[in-house]
Amino acid sequence: MNWLFPWQDALWLQHMPAAAQRHHALLLRGPRGVGKRRFAEVIGQSLLCMAPAKSALPCGACQACGWIAQAQHPDFLLIEPRIDADAEGEGAGTAKKAPAQVKVDQIREVVGKLALSTHQGGRRIVLIDPAEGMNAHAANALLKTLEEPPGGTLFLLVNHQCGALQATIVSRCRALDLAIPAPAQALAWLHQQGVAEESARLALALAGGAPLLALEKAAPEARARLQTLLSILQLGSSMDPIAQAERLAQYGAAEIVEGMQTWSHDLTARKLGQAISYHVDCADSLARTATDARIEDLLALQRKLLDAKRLAGHPLNTRLVAEDLLLAYRDACGG
Ligand SMILES: [Zn+2]
Repeated sequence: MNWLFPWQDALWLQHMPAAAQRHHALLLRGPRGVGKRRFAEVIGQSLLCMAPAKSALPCGACQACGWIAQAQHPDFLLIEPRIDADAEGEGAGTAKKAPAQVKVDQIREVVGKLALSTHQGGRRIVLIDPAEGMNAHAANALLKTLEEPPGGTLFLLVNHQCGALQATIVSRCRALDLAIPAPAQALAWLHQQGVAEESARLALALAGGAPLLALEKAAPEARARLQTLLSILQLGSSMDPIAQAERLAQYGAAEIVEGMQTWSHDLTARKLGQAISYHVDCADSLARTATDARIEDLLALQRKLLDAKRLAGHPLNTRLVAEDLLLAYRDACGG
């Protein structure tokens, strides 16, 4: 059975099972879309499996593997961010709705379970994804546990955004870096998933080389949505931000920001005479749009997009966000 993605085999052989036996917390770092979550799940399953293979990979057939397949293993605890309208007072009541976060009560609930003996008398797994989704209170509560870890528990922290996790937490973990695979390996995998060669190449460029993200971007609906956004951006200095923002009302803020980030990155590269990284099939329209664009305004736009990305997890009025960003974009294009 293919537990791991093909580009993860070498990392597994290099570190497993030793890393999971020697450390009480592993930090799985890397860009979005390289399969960190899958890697973490397989580590957890391999430790709970009753008959792991010689490679330490799970058997897939025992009772523990069966429970995990149904997300019902009592010793495999998963913590993910949740949206909580009646916040626990951590935001000092400034916002009506809090963004999706891992809250301190989620950590406390799990830590409470760690004091009890495990269901199977073996290891216990706590998977937190994404670890940077913990708010400050939650991170502090986890830190205390990591400083005095309960025996037999392995914490698996999935970290998509480098630098977004508290250094004190990082220092308590053994880090494993999951990198972008070689393009040939990523393309071969995308072909196996049924993505045609040309689409796979374009989607992989758009995804910055991350195969799982490329697979999402290669889906027809995702491509159509991106096309609409690009058709707006290609209007450049003649674009009407208010009218065009209306067309993006059904988009998520993160989706708009990400599309604008890759596009303005390419536009800046074009302006500087460098190679295009993301929208490799749009060389002509990038060249056209770049004609009147001002480099300092493009760089300011990119800083603005970075700020917007940080806020994208908050429940925002997408149309207003889009208007604001499109206005800055139009100005940068010489409007
Ligand atoms: Zn098993």
